[in-house]
Amino acid sequence: MSSVVETRSPSPQMKSVLTPPLTPPPRTATLKEDVPVDLGVPENYVSWTIKNQKPLPPITWSSLYKELNYLSLAILTITPSIAIWGAFHVKMRTETFWWCVVYYFITGLGITAGYHRLWAHRSYNASKPLEYFFAMAGAGAVEGSIRWWSRGHRAHHRYTDTELDPYDANKGFWWSHVGWMLVKPRRKPGVADVSDLSKSEVVRWQHRWYLQLIVTFGFLFPTFVAGIFWGDWWGGFVYAGAARLTFVHHSTFCVNSLAHWIGETPFDDKHTPKDHMLTAFVTNGEGYHNFHHQFPTDYRNAIKWYQYDPTKWFIWTCAKLGLASHLKKFPENEVRKGQLTMQLKRLRETQEGLVFAPDANDLPIVNWETFQKQSTKRPLVVVAGFIHDLSSFIDDHPGGRHLIAKNIGRDATTAFFGGVYDHSNAAHNLLSMMRVGVLAGGMQHGLDDRIVPPSQRLRIARYTELVSSAGSSTAWSDNEGLLG
Ligand SMILES: [Zn+2]
Ligand SMILES: [Zn+2]
Repeated sequence: MSSVVETRSPSPQMKSVLTPPLTPPPRTATLKEDVPVDLGVPENYVSWTIKNQKPLPPITWSSLYKELNYLSLAILTITPSIAIWGAFHVKMRTETFWWCVVYYFITGLGITAGYHRLWAHRSYNASKPLEYFFAMAGAGAVEGSIRWWSRGHRAHHRYTDTELDPYDANKGFWWSHVGWMLVKPRRKPGVADVSDLSKSEVVRWQHRWYLQLIVTFGFLFPTFVAGIFWGDWWGGFVYAGAARLTFVHHSTFCVNSLAHWIGETPFDDKHTPKDHMLTAFVTNGEGYHNFHHQFPTDYRNAIKWYQYDPTKWFIWTCAKLGLASHLKKFPENEVRKGQLTMQLKRLRETQEGLVFAPDANDLPIVNWETFQKQSTKRPLVVVAGFIHDLSSFIDDHPGGRHLIAKNIGRDATTAFFGGVYDHSNAAHNLLSMMRVGVLAGGMQHGLDDRIVPPSQRLRIARYTELVSSAGSSTAWSDNEGLLG
């Protein structure tokens, strides 16, 4: 909310590690806050901090009253209480209902298009009037100043799923939704630079007047609009003020909780962010969060035209009206690489769940005489240089037993591949499962399609497997006993 009390300052020892001598600031930087705070961060910053900066002790029921952030708690409980009281005592008028919806989107966009995509991520440039609009609309969402919000959000992206992430999703749904605001944090969020925002006239203006702005745009403005235009003062206060604010709060909080909890990972599954249409609907389009964490400076969250992303549509419209410019998009080629990787991963899982034909290198090499001798004991047939034992299949052969029987002890390659019947890929796959040996001198060259079953011609291999399989051979020597 408006502030999270910092309860722990680094130990003297830690300070010396966290603040090594900084590179001299550029000459143009005149204010201390113009210098990026992470300029001198050591290379082992994350692991060192997590290991050496001990978090505050866990909160227990008996210590809870000392650990609560009472300002956040008050805002997050009194606001919905007013809305619930109002629902029973104040009649909802049609004009007020539609005003609530409109003001929900205005203040929601103040956060999503303003705080989030403009200031926290710099995904486009906004004109001064648009920046002031976002600063006021965002204040109406009562979620802290632009500077404070963006600092936390940049830490969230930089340290996702670690203890330095202020709303670490691994601590559970409710922690990432509201818990992190209701109690004093157990450790400081990881370092994240917002010196660019300190230079912004609009950000500084909003930070300075923040308290007046949240009172004005959180409650006074929505109440006055309903009161002055259609005389519904109480409705304006209760519904467009309190109820609308409650919805905006939990809608935006869902970006930290729901968007890290349900959905798909079409671009990367290294961390918790996920894509889900439901999350998009409740967050003004911020629900394509898997994409967003991969490509955070892209002004879009949804990349398909039919996906719900009103924040993107709003920014795009502002650009058409000349109010925004330099809308950033990640190169399509790189976006598709992420998608391909995830598709291959899923296909690999399918592949690993199946059993394929034995590799030629794992089968014994058998000469023609041995093959002939063995064929008198069981139905062995040669196809494409492989010896197959058809005992389990001969009676189930769709073309009849006799067509196999007459090829026992013979090379049936031509008959199998169209001479008698041009077998299906499924038949070829099934045949390959019955391989028991390789006929010495009977194999065509290794790139012949007839040697490789259709299901194995295109396979997914890790780069390490491609390297190790090249040139290796474990072919066995001819040995009659191995076939028997
Ligand atoms: Zn996130
Ligand atoms: Zn973000």
